[in-house]
Amino acid sequence: MSIKLEHINYIYSAGTAYEKHALKDINLEIPHGQFVGIIGHTGSGKSTLIQHLNGLVKATSGELLYNGENIYKPGYKMRELRSQVGLVFQYPEHQLFEVDVLSDVCFGPKNQGCSAEESKARALEALKLVGLKEKYYDCSPFDLSGGQKRRVAIAGILAMDPEILILDEPTAGLDPQGAKEMLNLFRKINQQGKTVIIVSHDMNQVLEYCDEVIVMNKGKVERHEQVDELFKETEYLNSLSIDLPIITSFIQQLNNNGFNIDTSIKDINELVKVIGGQINE
Ligand code: ADP
Ligand code: MG
Repeated sequence: MSIKLEHINYIYSAGTAYEKHALKDINLEIPHGQFVGIIGHTGSGKSTLIQHLNGLVKATSGELLYNGENIYKPGYKMRELRSQVGLVFQYPEHQLFEVDVLSDVCFGPKNQGCSAEESKARALEALKLVGLKEKYYDCSPFDLSGGQKRRVAIAGILAMDPEILILDEPTAGLDPQGAKEMLNLFRKINQQGKTVIIVSHDMNQVLEYCDEVIVMNKGKVERHEQVDELFKETEYLNSLSIDLPIITSFIQQLNNNGFNIDTSIKDINELVKVIGGQINE
């Protein structure tokens, strides 16, 4: 099971003065069960790319295969795809629309054909998972803070119990503790066998949580590899002005000063041990 993109191009406002070739010949396969990070500058095409993955945006050319089936072929059940591939937008306002939080989160499961009772049960469970306090359930989603809106938007997708969860900058607007709780929730979902794809600007998050990483640059996929491999390429990342994770940058500085430490170490306790060992040598 996988999502496969073959020669995908996407052009905004084709044929007008505002034409923008946002995705250029994207070839990509994301096997099921991975925790994937998508990184790259603002404007590199990350949001456009992930909006293709649930069929929300249709490629100008190229093919997208979900579990081997071309989603652009006539008669393809787009509705089923949308319920299996859940997408949380970069701006939660673009996703919220109901009069109160609970109705908003119920919308997805209802749309999937769940009864009112089942939809409510799923919505309550999802709201609990994202840590939104009960006192907000009756509020208009538009009266909430940025971080709370994001929690509601994520709950709305979790309530649909998708096989693949895609989140566009999901921790923007959350405080560090809230961000950590949210990422731990995504990790738990991933450990239950589901694919998680996040767009992130935080390389510490990417190193800590993701298995593999996709680097977008000017509408192209420049790298698609294991996280440990990517963060070894310090010169390449510097050339894109992508910060190294703090721990990787620290190891690099140690190595510049006579240490010989594996830059793929992610865990601070392990690093302390290795440094201790090399000092005592
Ligand atoms: P990212 O998420 O990496 O910041 P986007 O996918 O949002 O990048 O944008 C990729 C490119 O497409 C950018 O140059 C952006 O200005 C352009 N773009 C995005 N949305 C639109 C739109 N609705 N109309 C025209 N151009 C757009
Ligand atoms: Mg974006």
